[in-house]
Amino acid sequence: MKKQQSYKPDWTPKNAGEEFAISVIKGVDGTSNKSSKSKSNMKSKIPKIEELVKGVLEDDRNLLARSITLIESNATAHHKKAAQILDKLLPYSGKSIRIGISGVPGAGKSTMIEALGLYLIEQGHKVAVLTVDPSSSVTKGSILGDKTRMEKLSQEANCFIRPSPASGNLGGVTRKTRETITVCEAAGFDVVLIETVGVGQSEITVRSMVDFFLLVMIAGAGDELQGIKKGIIEISDALVFNKADGANKQKVNVARAEFANAVHYLKPYSKGWETKVLTASALSGKGIEEIWQMILEFTEQSKKSKTFDEERKRQSLQWMYFLIDEKLKTQFYENPKVKKEIVDIKKQILEGKLLATSAAESLLSKFS
Ligand code: GDP
Repeated sequence: MKKQQSYKPDWTPKNAGEEFAISVIKGVDGTSNKSSKSKSNMKSKIPKIEELVKGVLEDDRNLLARSITLIESNATAHHKKAAQILDKLLPYSGKSIRIGISGVPGAGKSTMIEALGLYLIEQGHKVAVLTVDPSSSVTKGSILGDKTRMEKLSQEANCFIRPSPASGNLGGVTRKTRETITVCEAAGFDVVLIETVGVGQSEITVRSMVDFFLLVMIAGAGDELQGIKKGIIEISDALVFNKADGANKQKVNVARAEFANAVHYLKPYSKGWETKVLTASALSGKGIEEIWQMILEFTEQSKKSKTFDEERKRQSLQWMYFLIDEKLKTQFYENPKVKKEIVDIKKQILEGKLLATSAAESLLSKFS
């Protein structure tokens, strides 16, 4: 396995700890000579759209990271440029297998992603890992990044790891994640792993952008302790009981049998696919190959029955509606008349002088 030197990307938060050690690997020699501009120059000036697009297509890691940074930017001035880049990259995207991986903190997600990622790279794949961390926007802390994660994987030339930006609401973060998938695919990554913490809304959103959703579980922890709601199991294509090693092996097998029985009663999320229940030891690597075989079986089966494409089309439509909703909402709250009226209307509601229904009607009428 060829290793390359990686360095901290320019978007690394100032207070980032060791967990942020990763991601940007020096561009391969011989690619666009424009990419060898000095780092400070790259920092201060956004490269031209053509340069970024070419860089992404050539998998120049510096320009790939720069493009994602631009897409993640909340500055209105960057939106147009980002959209142009995405438009140009779109024809090159769509060819990867998109996999969502969820589970409560400590379940072994990062250990599993590292093991799966290394296995896939050995098999000749190019793997992108994107993380969606819902805590970052709320607490400014991070559930996913409290330790050194995926150290070996991050050093692989055929791997690219990108944490979600630590700002914005969940919609914002996932909007960027979805677009980042497009960019990574255009750069030639054929497996995109999207990691999320199985404790809230984020996995529902991640589900809407992946082909396969895998839930990492621990045996004997109790459903409550795992924060596992039936809803999360219902959106999963597979449950993998991790840590099937040592003294824990027995417990894992019992849990697997229990859940294998229980999932029969659930309506599977993906048409024609019955939720699978597997065991693995991410630490020793046992069961990792089986996970990949299962995912291959899923893609083969769903491509044959056309549900793979149907689901992607459905996701695209859903995504369009989401973006329309988002844009309309922004326009509404930024409308000068609405902005002016809303202060007084809020006051009236709080004083009990106005009902929410009339208040909403009144504000909406200012907007239309
Ligand atoms: P995450 O928070 O879900 O990403 O979990 P981590 O991957 O960081 O794992 C949490 C802890 O469980 C770490 O101490 C890992 O070494 C350990 N762990 C992960 N996978 C396994 C496994 O398969 N077997 C055992 N025994 N420990 C594991």
